[in-house]
Amino acid sequence: MSKIDPTKYGPNTRAVRAGQVRSAEGEHSELIFASSSYVFQNAAEAAARFKGDLPGNIYSRFTNPTVRTFEERLAALEGGERCVATSSGMSAILSTCLGLLKGGDHIVSSRSIFGTTVGLFNNILPKFGLTTTFVDLTDYAAWEAAIRPETKLLFLETPSNPLTEIADIRKLADIAHAHDCLLAVDNCFCTPALQLPFSLGADIVIHSATKYIDGQGRCVGGAVIGDEKRLEDVFVFLRTAGPTLSPFNAWVFLKGLETLNIRMKKHCENAQQIAEWLEQQPHVEKVYYPGLKSHPQHALAGRQQSGYGGVVSFIVKGGQEAAWRVVDSTQLFSITANLGDTKSTITHPATTTHHRLTDEQRLESGISPGLLRLSVGFEDVEDLQEDLRYGLNPR
Ligand SMILES: *Cc1c(COP(=O)(O)O)cnc(C)c1O
Repeated sequence: MSKIDPTKYGPNTRAVRAGQVRSAEGEHSELIFASSSYVFQNAAEAAARFKGDLPGNIYSRFTNPTVRTFEERLAALEGGERCVATSSGMSAILSTCLGLLKGGDHIVSSRSIFGTTVGLFNNILPKFGLTTTFVDLTDYAAWEAAIRPETKLLFLETPSNPLTEIADIRKLADIAHAHDCLLAVDNCFCTPALQLPFSLGADIVIHSATKYIDGQGRCVGGAVIGDEKRLEDVFVFLRTAGPTLSPFNAWVFLKGLETLNIRMKKHCENAQQIAEWLEQQPHVEKVYYPGLKSHPQHALAGRQQSGYGGVVSFIVKGGQEAAWRVVDSTQLFSITANLGDTKSTITHPATTTHHRLTDEQRLESGISPGLLRLSVGFEDVEDLQEDLRYGLNPR
C-alpha cells in the first residue's frame, strides 16, 4: 500500500503518518516485524535480491520493515533524504565516522559534546588513523583555524550539554563548506520538533533516539540522516559491521515520533517556568536556559530553534555540598544522568557525566562544583518547584 509523500504535508502529519506501509491485514497501527530473515518465491528471486536488481528485504541486519518505517518517518521530520537507524546514539556517531571517513582524515569537534563522544574521538578513532581537534563551540575563528587540508568533518551539539550554549549552525555550515568539509549536528537536545539543521546548511544529522525520540526512557537507539549518496556509505558500514536497530526498539521510537511535537512543546513550557522560577531563588547563583533573556544567545536560539528545549542547568551557591543537598532532598526528580523523559531528572555533572575531566578541564568547560542539570518532564510545575525548594533553602 502506498506511503504518504512527506513533502506534501506539515510536520504534525508527517510525525504520525510518514513511512507506514500497511500489510494485507489492514492494521491501523504499525506492525513489529519480528523476523530475522525473509523468504523468496524462488531461486531466481533470491538471486535478484542479493544482486540488488530487485528491491526487498533479505536479512534484518540489512533492512527490516519496522526499522524502515522509523527511518522514513524520522527522515521526513528532519527534512533529510535518507535515514539509517542504529543500535544506539554512539553507534550512530561511530557509523558516521567509519562510513564516511578513512584513516588519515581529521575531525574538528566542539569541546562541549556528550562525554562518550569525546571518548570515541580521543581513544577509539585514533587507533584507525582518525584524529580530532577540539574547539570552543562558539569560537568561530577557532573552528576555522583548526581546519587542516585533511579535515573532512565538523561535529557539534547545540544547545550544548549541560550549559546550553548555542552555536550558529548556518555560520558553521558556511565554514565547513568553504573548506570542503561536512557539518554533522547531533540534534539530540532539540529533535526535529525544535530545530532543523538541514535547513541551516548541515550535511548530517545524528540522533540518540534514547532521549526525546523515545521520550519515556524505554529503549536505546540512534539514527543518522543525510543525503542518499552519503547515507549509502553509512548504510554499507552498518550492514557490514552490524550495529543495527532491533525492530522492537524501532517500533517504540516510531510511536515516540508520533507524539514528539506535542511532547517537546510541553518540555519547553515546563522548563521555561522552572528556569524563570530558579532565577528568582536567593540560593541560586546562575541559571542556564536559552529561553531566559539573561542567556547570552537568547536571540540566536529564538531564530534557530522553534522552542528552547527541556534542559535547564543552574549553579547552587555553596559548591558541591549545596548541590548534593539539593539532589538528595528531592522526592520527585529521578537522580539519573538520562534526559528527555516524561519524568524529570536531576544530575550533578561534576561528579557524574563529567567526572573524568581534570579539575582544570572542568573549570575550563564551566562545570563548576555547584552546577546541577535538570531535564524537565511532565509533572506539575508547582510540584517540581516544591521538590527543589526544600533542598535550596538550608535550615
Ligand atoms: C545520550 C547521548 C548520546 C549517546 O547516545 P546513546 O543512545 O546513549 O548511545 C549522544 N549524544 C548526545 C547529545 C546524547 O545526549
